[in-house]
Amino acid sequence: MRTEFLPFSRPSISEEDIAAVSDVLRSGWITTGVKNAEFEKKFCEYTGCGGAVALSSATAGMHLLLHTLGIGPGDEVITPSMTWVSTINLIVLCGATPVFADIDKDTLMVSPEAIQERISEKTRLIIPVHFAGASADMAQIRQIASERNIFLVEDAAHALGTECNGERIGKLGTSVFSFHPIKNITTGEGGMFCADDPNLTERIRRLKFHGLGVDAYDRQTQGRSPQAQVMEPGYKYNLPDMCAVLGLRQLARLDEFNRKRAEIAMYYHKRLSEIEEIFPLSIPNYSIKHSWHLFIVRLDIDKTAINRDDFMNELKQRNIGTGLHFRAAHLQKYYVEKMGMRRGMLPNTEWNSDRILSLPLFPDMTITDVNDVIDALKDVLKK
Ligand SMILES: *Cc1c(COP(=O)(O)O)cnc(C)c1O
Repeated sequence: MRTEFLPFSRPSISEEDIAAVSDVLRSGWITTGVKNAEFEKKFCEYTGCGGAVALSSATAGMHLLLHTLGIGPGDEVITPSMTWVSTINLIVLCGATPVFADIDKDTLMVSPEAIQERISEKTRLIIPVHFAGASADMAQIRQIASERNIFLVEDAAHALGTECNGERIGKLGTSVFSFHPIKNITTGEGGMFCADDPNLTERIRRLKFHGLGVDAYDRQTQGRSPQAQVMEPGYKYNLPDMCAVLGLRQLARLDEFNRKRAEIAMYYHKRLSEIEEIFPLSIPNYSIKHSWHLFIVRLDIDKTAINRDDFMNELKQRNIGTGLHFRAAHLQKYYVEKMGMRRGMLPNTEWNSDRILSLPLFPDMTITDVNDVIDALKDVLKK
C-alpha cells in the first residue's frame, strides 16, 4: 500500500511561479494593476476571446452576468443539476428559478434535447457546463438559444484549453472560467469572464469594482483614481495582482499541463480496462479537444457489495484521495426541502450522482501514482 497520501488534485507551482509572486509582493502594488491587464491580454490571445475581465472567482463572474441581465423573480434559468452548486445558489439568490435539464448518461454533458424541452416563456438564460474537460454540444445549444433569442453563458470552469469543432472554448459567445486550485491553471482563487461583446465586458469591468468608471488600477494616476465616481452600484470582485501574476505564469505552462493530463488519462483508460466494475466517462461523439480537467469514473454499484461513498472511504484508507464532481444539486437538502425537488426528476443525473468519483489527476502525477490507484481500486474490490 502507498505510504504517502495521493490527493485527487494538486496545483503545479514552480520555483519561477513563486519568484514571480514574490516580485509582485515586493513591488509596492499587490492588488489589481498591470499584472491583471497583462493576464487578461494573454488570456484573450490564448482563447481567442474578444474581451476578458479577471475576477476573484468564476462564481463572481456568473453573479455579475445575472446582475447585468437583470435576472430576478419570475425568470427561469436552465442549467444542469450535475454542476457545482455555486451556479444554482446564485440563481436562487437573485430570486429567479433554476430549471434543471438532464445530462447525457455517458458524457455527463447537458443534453440539447433536454434544454429544448425545458424552455418556457419565462426562460431568460441557459448555462451549459463543459464537463470534466470535454465540451458540451455547442453547435446545437447555440442554435437552440439563438432561435429563441435566449442569452447563453458557458460554464467553462473545466474547459481551459478545450476545443469544440476546432474553436477554443471562450472564443465564441460568453463564458466564465475558474482558477480555483483544482482547475487546469490556478491563481489561488480567481476567475475570468470572457465575451465577444465589448459592451458586456465593459459593464462587467465596471461592476466588478464598486461600479466606479475605472478599473481598480488606473495607468495615468499610477493607482486608483481618487476622482472616480460611482456610475452604478457595483460589487467588489476584483483579482489582486499577486494572484494575476500567478495566472500569467500558469497560462504560459497550460499546454504542457494539459499534455501531461492527457498522458495520465490515456494510461488510466488502458489500466481501467482490467476492472469491469469501474468504467470511465465516454468521449462525446462530436469534434472536441479534451483538456482532461477531471478523470471521472463510475462504480457499477449494481455489481458490487459496496456503495460509492464507502468506496471513496476505503480508497482514502489506502492513501488514495478522490473527488465527487458532482452530487446532483437538485437532491441537496435545501433544494429538496424548500423547492420540492425530488428523485425521479432527472434520471441520468441521479444515476451518475450515485456512482461517480474523480480519480487523482494532475500534471505532476507519475505513472507509478496511477499504478498505485489501480492497485487500491482492485484491493477494495478484492480482485
Ligand atoms: C469550480 C467550478 C465553479 C466555480 O468556480 P469558482 O472559481 O470556485 O467560483 C463553477 N462551475 C463549475 C462546474 C466548477 O467546477
